[in-house]
Amino acid sequence: MSPGRQPEVLSTAANIELRERRFLVVGAGLAGSVVARELADGGLSVHVVDRRSHVAGNAFDEVDGAGVLIHRYGPHIFHTNSERVFRFLSRFTEWRPYEHRVLGVVDGKLYPFPINCETLNQLYGLDLHEVGAAAFLEQVREPRDPVRNSEDLVLNAVGRDLYEKFFLNYTRKQWGLEPSQLKAGVAARIPVRTNSDDRYFTDIYQAMPLHGYTRMFERMLDHPNITVELGVDFRDVRARWVGQHTVFTGPIDAYFDYCYGRLPYRSLRFEHEHLAGIEQFQPVGTVNYPNDFDFTRITEFKHLTGQTHRGTSIVREYPQAEGDPYYPIPRAENEALYKRYERLAEQEPDVTFVGRLAQYRYYNMDQVVAAAIKAAERVLRAIRV
Ligand SMILES: Cc1cc2nc3c(=O)[nH]c(=O)nc-3n(C[C@H](O)[C@H](O)[C@H](O)COP(=O)(O)OP(=O)(O)OC[C@H]3O[C@@H](n4cnc5c(N)ncnc54)[C@H](O)[C@@H]3O)c2cc1C
Repeated sequence: MSPGRQPEVLSTAANIELRERRFLVVGAGLAGSVVARELADGGLSVHVVDRRSHVAGNAFDEVDGAGVLIHRYGPHIFHTNSERVFRFLSRFTEWRPYEHRVLGVVDGKLYPFPINCETLNQLYGLDLHEVGAAAFLEQVREPRDPVRNSEDLVLNAVGRDLYEKFFLNYTRKQWGLEPSQLKAGVAARIPVRTNSDDRYFTDIYQAMPLHGYTRMFERMLDHPNITVELGVDFRDVRARWVGQHTVFTGPIDAYFDYCYGRLPYRSLRFEHEHLAGIEQFQPVGTVNYPNDFDFTRITEFKHLTGQTHRGTSIVREYPQAEGDPYYPIPRAENEALYKRYERLAEQEPDVTFVGRLAQYRYYNMDQVVAAAIKAAERVLRAIRV
């Protein structure tokens, strides 16, 4: 591919001969773009539509007014243990090694997060090493059996003081719910360590696309068998679509016209700010504010991207109930509702549902890539039978 070449993007007004395009992919986010590329590599002709005006879905990045590369929909840090996923994406980007670090503000001071040995030492004025930290947590934890929800999980691991300092109010802000109302899996995403490893993730592969996510997506979609149409909703294409198979990566409840009611999502408002003349705003990529302010965290993009600039750009995240669907809310009743939609989806042999919204799952990017590769393989197998 020639560097900087854009995928073929058709305007809404273009007279698109959909008959030539046998496969429709709804959504140019990670799920849709990976499936489209896999199908195109398999020799199929694919038409991709997205209602947004850009590719890359929530991983979209762009240069802001001051010239700093930012992530419009909040910070996206790539990490995976899957060699297959990493190899797949590496076809479309070079990488910048990056290990994410997070600090949490408690009573005005910054502490390593997730909780590790150093968090305990700094917070309680101790001098523990790994064994001592494990013994300390053993002393303060409040054992729970069974572990029914996120509150149980955290109390069982670190006890009440650390729960209240780092988790309780952050969860309330993030989800608008008590930790006791959320499945244990939500809190289980955040490890507790007894060593002094202060990296947020410990995956084998941790890196950022060297020229940004959007560029990576553009390369993925740059294939003679792929056309991309932006600013177009599936609703507008549905009636005139005459192809063989649809891959749908939008919200599954929307596909079925919300016939069983809406699947709940947590949304976010992103407040982006450029700070001219300030080279560095905070010491690490993300600082969490569990107990202060209405926002949950501030991310400074230059840490993630390695960009040098005289100023810096940050984003504050304000969780909210209304707005774009970002996080499926992991509660038993929501999963039961999703299962009803999933049963409807199973009755649609000509449609594949994949991705965060279509599968109503709290997926990381690498999990979406893996799911999309598998989905494309299923489609290709079915075609070739
Ligand atoms: C704030 C935030 C931070 C995150 N940080 C990380 C991180 O650090 N690391 C990580 O691994 N993961 C992170 N994630 C998760 C990551 O964003 C997702 O795993 C990934 O983007 C999901 O890809 P997707 O294609 O399934 O969905 P999306 O990226 O949402 O793409 C779906 C696309 O479908 C389009 N669409 C929907 N309905 C229609 C329709 N009817 N017609 C046309 N188009 C439609 C949408 O416009 C969208 O572009 C984060 C998520 C959020 C919200």
